[in-house]
Amino acid sequence: MTRITPQPGIMDIALYQGGASHVDGVEDVLKLSSNENPFGPSPKAVEAIRDAAAEMHRYPSTDHAELRAAIGALNGLDPERVICGVGSDEVLQFLCQAFAGPGDEVLYTEHGFAMYRICALMVGATPVEVAETERRVDIDTLIAGLTDRTRIVFIANPANPTATMLETGELVRLADALPPQCLLVIDSAYAEFAEGYDGGKSLVDARSNVVMTRTFSKLYGLGGLRVGWGYADREIIEVLTRIRQPFNLSTVALAGAEAALKDQEFADECVQVNAAERARLTGGMRQLGIACDDSHTNFVLARFNDEAEADKADAHLKSHGIIVRLPKSYKLPHCLRITVGRPADNTRVLDALAEFRGAA
Ligand SMILES: *Cc1c(COP(=O)(O)O)cnc(C)c1O
Repeated sequence: MTRITPQPGIMDIALYQGGASHVDGVEDVLKLSSNENPFGPSPKAVEAIRDAAAEMHRYPSTDHAELRAAIGALNGLDPERVICGVGSDEVLQFLCQAFAGPGDEVLYTEHGFAMYRICALMVGATPVEVAETERRVDIDTLIAGLTDRTRIVFIANPANPTATMLETGELVRLADALPPQCLLVIDSAYAEFAEGYDGGKSLVDARSNVVMTRTFSKLYGLGGLRVGWGYADREIIEVLTRIRQPFNLSTVALAGAEAALKDQEFADECVQVNAAERARLTGGMRQLGIACDDSHTNFVLARFNDEAEADKADAHLKSHGIIVRLPKSYKLPHCLRITVGRPADNTRVLDALAEFRGAA
């Protein structure tokens, strides 16, 4: 028996399962399992990444001033209140490291994003999960789950993997109900896909106990680059910055993210195509008798009668080279999460599902 043992909580973390990316024996694989931008990153971001390669002997910026300035300019917010991380995942981790520990509770919902539990366990805090109502975050249930030990509440809005969304008024109601020691983190990884939504910015502006997190991994097509950011009260950012490694973002990451942000024409085009294609996928699935909620993201959640049927549908899609996500670990075993692809991709999905329906 070794006496070298990990800290309590760490062995309760299940190893992360990423979206699959290949199917044995199929060449023309269509990966729709990780909510990536099917058009890839902006060509301008690719160019900036290539150019940055020649500077690799230099350490990167430690204050991320240029990227934060670009984020501030685009979103109308104070760059001094922005922190950048290795994906928004790292910002979620900073929040747990800085504000939760053994004996503290981290609250999130039934179908909530996997990182909330992982980050809580990482710092020895107690993850607490409350039920959702029909795949929607339920503010009253969350409020009922608050205790004097709750330090952080995590909500993704819009949510993954359900694709549903709360009105800002509901978030305000939760923020109003928080005990004084508790932060509300609004994970807005999909904010750009939700029309007319500010990602929770107005809420952060109005209160010191709300944090918004954002990412370059979804709309900006840079999941492989690992860049995200958080926006909060200055004092909170100050705390998080103390535990951020001085060189957490590489020169390449900083250059790529900034260039992507500055190519809003490309981003806007992606948002528009996504909205139209999301509607087409949703409508097409419903016509086939496959239920799905209205999506506010770049994916749809298809609901089948039961887990066996979802597994069969998944196998059928796979036989056509289409890889989607089985959200079993999200307590949605009867569902398939399908990223919205390029128009021809979505036609391929709908055709395969129609064939499945015909054969079923
Ligand atoms: C994809 C995703 C993220 C972003 O992760 P990154 O670390 O920025 O790549 C955060 N939250 C949710 C709910 C997501 O789906």
